[in-house]
Order: sequence, then C-alpha cells, then structure tokens
Amino acid sequence: MFRKAANFPLLDGVDFREIIETATGVPCQSVPLGLAFYFGESESLPPDTNTMVVYWDLGVGVIFGRGSQLFPLGADRHDGTPTLPELGHIRIEKNGRICHCGRRGCLEAYTGGWALMETLRRKSVRRLSDFIKLVQHGDADALRLACAAATRLGRHLAPFIQVMRASQVRVCGPMAPVFELVSEDFCKGLEHLFDAKEIARLNPSASPAIEERFLRGAHRLARRLFTHPDENGVLRTPVSLDEQD
Ligand SMILES: [Zn+2]
Repeated sequence: MFRKAANFPLLDGVDFREIIETATGVPCQSVPLGLAFYFGESESLPPDTNTMVVYWDLGVGVIFGRGSQLFPLGADRHDGTPTLPELGHIRIEKNGRICHCGRRGCLEAYTGGWALMETLRRKSVRRLSDFIKLVQHGDADALRLACAAATRLGRHLAPFIQVMRASQVRVCGPMAPVFELVSEDFCKGLEHLFDAKEIARLNPSASPAIEERFLRGAHRLARRLFTHPDENGVLRTPVSLDEQD
C-alpha cells in the first residue's frame, strides 16, 4: 500500500501487493524501493564492511547495512519497532523550503531530483532524465545546482556516517551518473566532519548506471524476504511522515 507517495501522489492508497497477488496468484510482500537498490549494491560491496548506500532519484533515500544485513536507524513511535532511516526527510532548515512530504526544510527539498528540476525552472526539463542530460552536457546552471546539492548531501549525511560507523559510501539510482561528476562536491560536504584520509577511505563512489544491478537487487531482496521473514520488522519505514511533530 502506498502511503505518502511524496513524488507520485497519484499512487497514494494504491495497494500494489493486492494487485500483483491477484494477478499472479503468488504470495507478495511490499517493501521500500530503496532496499532493491541496496541489495543491488551489496552484491558488489565487501560483505564485512558497514556501508551507506544512497539512492539519488527524484528524492533521496539512504540505507545502511553490512552485506545482506540491514541496519535500522530509529524506532517506530507507536510500537518501538526498529525502522529504516528516512534521512531524505530530516530537517536541515527550520522553516525552510516546502517538501513534497508536506513539511518544511527537508534534506530532499534541497537535494532531491525534483527539487533541482523545480529550482532550474526550464520548460525543456520535464523529466529527471532531461535534467541529468543537461548536467552531463555541462549546462552551467544545472551543474551548479547538482554541485550544491552534492555538497549539502555530504554535509548532512556525514553525522549519520559516524553514527552508523560506515566505512564505505556508494551512490546509486538514476542520479548516479550525476554523482560521478559531482562527487568532489560531496566530499567537500564531508570535509565539515572528516579529514582527507577518512574521506579517501570512505571512497564515495557512483554505482555504474546499469539497470541490471537494480533488477538483480530486487531479486536478491525477494529471496531474502522469503528466507528471513524474521527481518520483516526491520524492513519498515517509519510512519513518521504521517505524523505532525
Ligand atoms: Zn520531506
């Protein structure tokens, strides 16, 4: 069931699990999209290393893990269940820009693909892929926005890298090719907390933009969900987006 589909409000309330289950007759589970990205990356990451995987898309998602093991961050306010982080919606500016989630000042409202497209305000940029192409072709305005977003991401994710003791950073998702061009700016953001040696060790790198990796991730995740059903509690995102603080 989609709840608060911040970037696709039309999907709100659609129960995909039921639709797929009815259509295929096989048992189905629905989990956050970011997990498929994570499992796509974890296959090529050292299994004994704490990793922060950022999926940079219209929004920004962050998953921490070590090999196939996911690390929750935070707890559900209602029942205390460990939850996945919603770092795209942490507040970085009090009374800041309005976010698609309805609150103000979220990290995503400054760094998500949708925010960059809105700030650029070009009629020719209708889809995220249009924005990505502009950056790749060296459009000065688009590149400037991407650089600033990467610096912000580095700066505001750095404390969580420390908390989760991550020793590697990987960026995937549709904006990975952009990250490849602006990773130095991401490192500039990290410099607020880390020295050059530490940043070199983190080795923030973009995932090769191949869809196959995402699909393999979805497959590995599906296997994991059925072989380790006890982990389901960890696979929840907090319902915090439904709540007013
Ligand atoms: Zn938000």
